[in-house]
Amino acid sequence: VASKETLGFQAEVKQLLQLMIHSLYSNKEIFLRELISNASDASDKLRFEGIAHPDWYGDDPDLKIKVSFDKTARTVTISDNGIGMSRDEVISNLGTIARSGTKEFFSKLSGDQQKDAALIGQFGVGFYSAFIVADRITVETRRAGLPSTDGIRWESDGSGEFTVESIDRPQRGTSIIMHLREGEDDFLSTHKLKSIIRKYSDHISLPIQMHKEEWDADKSEHVIQDELESINQSSALWARAKSDITEEQYDEFYKHLSHDYESPLCYSLNRVEGRSEFTQLLYVPARAPFDLWDRNKRGGIKLYVKRVFIMDDAEQLMPMYLRFVTGVIDSTDLPLNVSREILQESRDVKIIRESSTKRVLSMLEDLANSDDEAKQEKYRIFWTQFGQVLKEGMGEDQPNQERILKLLRFASTHTDSVDQTVSLAKYVSRMKEGQDKIYYVTGDTFNAAKNSPHLEIFRKKGVEVLLLSDRVDEWMLSFFTEFDGKHMTSVAKGGLDLGSLSDEKEKQEHEETEKNFKDLLDRMKATLEDKVKDVRVTFRLTDSPACLVSDENELSGNLLRMLKAAGQ
Ligand code: ADP
Ligand code: MG
Repeated sequence: VASKETLGFQAEVKQLLQLMIHSLYSNKEIFLRELISNASDASDKLRFEGIAHPDWYGDDPDLKIKVSFDKTARTVTISDNGIGMSRDEVISNLGTIARSGTKEFFSKLSGDQQKDAALIGQFGVGFYSAFIVADRITVETRRAGLPSTDGIRWESDGSGEFTVESIDRPQRGTSIIMHLREGEDDFLSTHKLKSIIRKYSDHISLPIQMHKEEWDADKSEHVIQDELESINQSSALWARAKSDITEEQYDEFYKHLSHDYESPLCYSLNRVEGRSEFTQLLYVPARAPFDLWDRNKRGGIKLYVKRVFIMDDAEQLMPMYLRFVTGVIDSTDLPLNVSREILQESRDVKIIRESSTKRVLSMLEDLANSDDEAKQEKYRIFWTQFGQVLKEGMGEDQPNQERILKLLRFASTHTDSVDQTVSLAKYVSRMKEGQDKIYYVTGDTFNAAKNSPHLEIFRKKGVEVLLLSDRVDEWMLSFFTEFDGKHMTSVAKGGLDLGSLSDEKEKQEHEETEKNFKDLLDRMKATLEDKVKDVRVTFRLTDSPACLVSDENELSGNLLRMLKAAGQ
């Protein structure tokens, strides 16, 4: 059993290690955050599995993380008494990248260090980051519930292979022993490690302990004591009083949850009491994750029940169109043994989802409606990153349609820019005297929409038209017909009545022209008999000779093309 095996890393891991060591070097201290985060996850897992196996705690019930170093051996060690790993788990967790989406990840790598470092962060392959500062790593671990003879030692220099052997390990959990590279001796310091822990890991809900260091007057130097002290506050961030939480702490907690390297756009922490009791801490990121459009992507919400971690990606807690939101929901009412199936049916979950939806919409409204330029800029960023996803809400979340409608932003002929910045309210405020409709044109691309011949008359008369070219736009328009009493009207539909926008004199001229062209129209109609329903004189065009329009009551050309493409 004590046999020592040498195994090769999965090819992707080798690639990743190369990349990590070379592109994250400027930010190397994050290894400590990643290892502490893993230790904290391991303790969460023990708390959860321990509900069914209380004996696993043995005589070591207080979960904690210990960080220590050895100046002579030049090692830094991070230990936890969490769930630990079995031999099979060690081999798969520390030899492969198990996460789905590995392929996409590698296909996204650009060679640009800055961008790639961001991707690594998002991808959450934290363990391997330890090789940035270590040229050899030893992991000793034993899974909770297994006998002490089932301990495992894993070791690697990060180049291509690792070894695994069985060891005797009385204590449960995992120790990561990092043998530092030449020149990394900075990390062999209580002061240095403490300050990194405070910077990145203060929000961790377990105590992170280090040996005390005291001044020894005789030796006239700092001497490390046996006694341990806690470095962090060690209470769940969302359970603390709002007034006790700093911006930096919110920020670091977000980075811990999301593996994002950028700060979020905004966050919201609330305790909800009443029929259902829960705490929600929700963040809107500043950047879309690479798998935002992946159909299998789950939500970014972690579910806790009375501080016990239950599951990641609890997609039932947030509607699909808000899948970009990251955060924590901690419920008092759900049972600890709740499963995804139970979540689907639960009334408490429905209440939580509705409340969280409202919170997110309020956060967005707060940015969108603010006079503060910094907030407006944040909303602009939000819209560029997630606008297309939010549009899905118009169909998915009819009860909140009115609120979402006000959050929509469009490109329009007012700016003729591809940037979607015009709200419907803004459009209405710019409407011409006598205009009673909101006009829009759709196209496959922004340029197709912008150059549509249907726009000519509108441009001539100075009437603003919204330029819609996102894939979801036509679909979204099928869910609402008006805003503020103004009908949403396609400029490409027949019988377009510019109403009181055209004056009397023009009307007379038009009638005259129609009479003059009657013969020509009849001949054209006869020729195009099977192809068109009608041929009319139009006054909409100023440069183009002719255009095709669809009947008022029919699907527009663009939607027809989309439905055809979808095989319907
Ligand atoms: P992630 O944490 O995003 O899953 P990591 O590369 O940080 O990715 O860790 C890989 C896996 O290794 C973890 O998912 C976990 O299963 C295992 N692991 C790492 N550190 C520990 C630990 N201290 N205790 C138990 N398992 C661990
Ligand atoms: Mg990790």
